[in-house]
Amino acid sequence: MSSNQSLSNLDLSVLWHPCTQMKDHETFPIIPIKKGQGIWLEDFDGNRYLDAISSWWVNLFGHANPAINAALKDQLDTLEHVIFAGFTHESAVKLAEKLVEITPEGLNRCFYADNGSSAVEVALKMSFHYWRNLGQIQKTQFITLENSYHGETLGALAVGNVSLYKETYAPLLMDVITVPGPDCYHRESGESWSDYSTRRFTLMEQALQQHSDTVCAVIIEPLVQCAGNMRMYDPVYLKLLRAACDKYHVHLIADEIAVGFGRTGTLFACEQGAISPDFMCLSKGLTGGYLPLSAVMTTDQIYQAFYADYQSMSAFLHSHSYTGNALACRAALATIDIFQQHNIIRKNKSLADSMAKAAIRFHDHPNVSEVRQTGMILAIELVKNKRTREPYPWQERRGLKVYQYALSKGVLLRPLGNVIYFMPPYIVTEEELLLIAEVAWQGIQHAVKD
Ligand SMILES: *Cc1c(COP(=O)(O)O)cnc(C)c1O
Repeated sequence: MSSNQSLSNLDLSVLWHPCTQMKDHETFPIIPIKKGQGIWLEDFDGNRYLDAISSWWVNLFGHANPAINAALKDQLDTLEHVIFAGFTHESAVKLAEKLVEITPEGLNRCFYADNGSSAVEVALKMSFHYWRNLGQIQKTQFITLENSYHGETLGALAVGNVSLYKETYAPLLMDVITVPGPDCYHRESGESWSDYSTRRFTLMEQALQQHSDTVCAVIIEPLVQCAGNMRMYDPVYLKLLRAACDKYHVHLIADEIAVGFGRTGTLFACEQGAISPDFMCLSKGLTGGYLPLSAVMTTDQIYQAFYADYQSMSAFLHSHSYTGNALACRAALATIDIFQQHNIIRKNKSLADSMAKAAIRFHDHPNVSEVRQTGMILAIELVKNKRTREPYPWQERRGLKVYQYALSKGVLLRPLGNVIYFMPPYIVTEEELLLIAEVAWQGIQHAVKD
């Protein structure tokens, strides 16, 4: 019989965990989870944790969701996986059809990969290769936004801008053009999100004007820069960017890996700017948090630029062994079914209102400089000085104190630096939102007390 203690000891003797200084676990226990049910996780000693961050933003409809479980069990007895070059299967075809239907107009082609970073790599390579197939070989660069995050593989890391993850590897990374972003945390007091985002767009317009000859694409996270501390901006930026990308003949890559599937209040964040990107990267919520899968949606125009006789050498010769995995595709189909059958986007509107209400008291907290929300993502910015917005020194790890306190009260929050955020699965109840907020409040009190 495993206990927390026995499994932790074994874990720490053989494992190396992601995004972790393993030495931290000399003082903080690692938590072995025995099972998940709905929004709750349970460890080997019987402690329960409310999963308020959707297990790193992937889970949409709870752990051990009956509908997704049933679909997977059926798929398991039919086909688990098959090579996806020269072969296809029903779940992959149906899912692609579904994705074409539900993503913005014009995204009619689906290319599968098996995680978010790989999807970003695919979009970058496809964009570059498109221009090359058209003879525009001088287009070799990408434009990205300050504070952006697009994954950890070298190409994705290069187009990201969170220095915590990037700086160490800088000598290995391709050069990119980084443009100051529309992050509304920095707006003047009294300035609206839309005014600030519009004002900041002039910097993007300048970059495009200056570099369009050599730029393949602009890559952005629409509306919320999640890993960049849940910073948010106005949909007007998407509209302006779409128009400018058209004007300067540059692709627009929308990385909706985190914000897709309802996180921002619409099924896809791009809908709020009423735009269609040239590439849309999807992963995380795509399978409801069950299995690794990603998809890059793109247009007929881009697809056609690769479609020619083999001898022309214009094909996209990119693959991953698990491309189009049947179990993952089936989980994704079951997930999208839940959206449609249960009118999730409409229901989430009132859930988002409840989340705002639950967090109302944080606005006046002496160590909170901002409470911001876009749809089903709510973030609380912890600061040393509310008036000047002076942050706590990162070395003090205040967010970590919130994390540990919340865990001891049975809530899984995982602050990004000093930003505490709620990103729960869509099955969260009003009572659970109040519990999350109460524990976060107590956690903040605990973290700021000295
Ligand atoms: C998580 C994330 C990625 C990377 O996805 P992985 O599956 O972790 O490789 C890329 N872009 C955004 C916006 C993300 O949030």
